[in-house]
Parts: sequence; structure tokens; C-alpha cells
Amino acid sequence: MHHCQGHRPTYVEIDLAALQHNFRQARRQAGDDCELLAVVKADAYGHGADRVAPALQQAGADLFGVAMVEEGVELRRAGVSRPILVLGGVYSGQEAELLAHELVPVIFEMETARRLNALALADGRRLSYHLKLDSGMGRLGFRAEELPATLAALTELPGLVMDGLISHLAVADDPTHPFTSEQAGLFREALSLVRAAGFTPRHIRLSNSAALFSRQFPECNLVRPGIVLYGGLPAPDFAERLHLRPVMSFRTAVAQLKDVPAGTGVSYGHRFVAGRSTRLAAIPVGYADGYSRQLSNVGEVLIRVRRARVAGTVCMDWTLIDVTDIPQVEVGDEVTLLGSDNGQFITAEEWAQRIDTINYEVFCQVSKRVPRFYLGG
Ligand SMILES: *Cc1c(COP(=O)(O)O)cnc(C)c1O
Repeated sequence: MHHCQGHRPTYVEIDLAALQHNFRQARRQAGDDCELLAVVKADAYGHGADRVAPALQQAGADLFGVAMVEEGVELRRAGVSRPILVLGGVYSGQEAELLAHELVPVIFEMETARRLNALALADGRRLSYHLKLDSGMGRLGFRAEELPATLAALTELPGLVMDGLISHLAVADDPTHPFTSEQAGLFREALSLVRAAGFTPRHIRLSNSAALFSRQFPECNLVRPGIVLYGGLPAPDFAERLHLRPVMSFRTAVAQLKDVPAGTGVSYGHRFVAGRSTRLAAIPVGYADGYSRQLSNVGEVLIRVRRARVAGTVCMDWTLIDVTDIPQVEVGDEVTLLGSDNGQFITAEEWAQRIDTINYEVFCQVSKRVPRFYLGG
């Protein structure tokens, strides 16, 4: 715990070597003829985009994907020189920043296209963009029936150059689901329409992490993995096919130990009542740090390479752990909430299952007040 001198001992450790290893796994799956867009939105899924993106650039990421213009600007400040795609929209007033930092917008409605076209022309430039098709996610993008009119309208905007055609898969985490090939079919038709209208998008892409293995769409020349880079599984069966390493570990240390007699109520609401003489460890982490309140009474942590369970309600800054069965525990002992402790693991998938969410949300929930420390890379 040397990195925590002078700080509350609650921290996140990010293993950049593991990140680069996972990137190489994704690269191998995608094949050599496929470019790799590394998705680093939401501060690299909570891992810290300013360190993660340069490490991925060094490992050979061809492009980067963010959700917001602000995130794209942050990547440029961190030294990312590769193309950056803004997946999530460009809002009124953000056009100048987008142009200044050479970010590539994804266009999913015409109003933004017209605004960007006007600005690009005023600037004497042509702006590259990717066109988003809604092939069945039902979220962003033009639906197939809107495409002919959309393409006609885009032809009238000389300040814009279509550099990619993009769509998103809704059910790719279930490899047997027939809807994915339906989406691939719609996408293929859309691609012919786009080409027939005279556009020549270089990047053709349909795939997130879950679709890394699907060979249903051979025209695809770019994949955009996110979760697998961070060692998360898009679906359980991915464990056999990709050898991923966890990147994030979330740790703290025991701040106080106390023994209470059977019958003692613990924490807010006394939702835990000691059924026996119990030893409790107080750890300085709570829901304000992203240690979800839903882990009350059900979360498990590692102390001295053993599992111990949360006792009672998780508070804003504190959590209590029942360490009765690990009598060697001392104040200052390291506690692993997520990640590895000498070969034992608490995975994001396990954590997510306990609180009925997905690994993505577990990573993103770790709050900004928890300092990140970086190893390797
Ligand atoms: C977030 C996102 C991805 C990455 O998805 P993962 O499931 O994390 O691999 C890919 N494409 C788009 C458009 C996204 O928004």
C-alpha cells in the first residue's frame, strides 16, 4: 500500500500491462484486415482515459471512440493523435471544439449535419463524419426507410465527407440470437444504398465487444471493442475464447476492529444483527466511492486471501465487514473489493450479479474521489 502514503487507503489500481494484453487479445480475434477502434468513453469505463488511451495508442489502437466532445478534447490533451470518433452526438455550441481538435462526429440526425456543414464551409474545410444507421437497436441513427431521403439531403452538404457507416447490435451478447443476422442483412442493404448514392465510406462497422467473434458480416473492416479491453466479459461464454486479464483492482484497508456480542444490531437500520459473538472490521469505503449500497449484507471482499461478507447497510463513507472467521485480521490489513488478492478474485461479473447489474456499471460506478494508481504499460 505504498502508493497511499498521506491518503485515505481507498484506491483503485489500474494494470496497464493487463490492458495492453487484452488489447492484443482483441486484435488477434479481429484479424489483421480489421482496424480496431478502442472505446474509451466514460473515462475509459472508469479506468482513467488520460492514462488508458495513451497506453492503447502505444499498443496499436487505430482509432478511439468517446461519447462526448468533452471526452474527445480530454484525449487530445492526453496526447492521443489517432482519429477520435464522437459516438454520442455534437450539441449546439460544440462545433468549434470539434473542428479545433479534429474530432470525427457520428451523424444520426439532419439538424446536426446542417450545422456542421455550415461551420466546415465557413472554415473552408471538409469535415469527415460517420453515418449512423439504426439497424435494430432502436436507439440512435436513421432507420432504413429514412435512408434514401437522408442520403439525398446529405448529397446537398458539400462541407461534409462520409468516412464511415456505423450501426450497433442489440443482442450480440447472445450468439444464437437470430436478430443479429437480421441486423447484418439490413446493414448490408444500407451499404449498397449508400454506395449507389455516390458515397464511399472507408470504415464499415457493426461490432462491439460481443460481436468480435461473429463472422456474419465479412465486409466489416473495423471493430470497436470496449468492455473486453478492461478485462470484462460481454457474455459468460467469452471466458473460454478470450484470455482476458482484469485491469482494475479496488482496494482499501481495515480502519477499526471491534468485537460485539450476539444480538448486537449493526449500521443504519440494524439490518444486520449479530447471530453470534462477532468481530467487525470497519473499512473506509461507501456508496459515495461507488461501493454500491445494494451490496449491504451481500457483498464479499478479500482479506488475507479469504472471503468476508458485508455486515449491514453500506454507508456513504463506511462499510462493516464480518471477519469473525479470519481471526488474524489486524487494523491496516488490505481489503480487496474488486480484483485480485494473491490468486483469489472478486470479478466485476460476480459483483454485478449480486446487485442485479452488469460489469460495465460496476466499473463506471467507482467514483472520482477514489484516486487511480497505474502499474506497467
Ligand atoms: C460503448 C459502445 C461500444 C463498445 O461496447 P462494448 O460492449 O463495451 O464492447 C461500441 N460501439 C458503440 C456505438 C458504443 O456506444
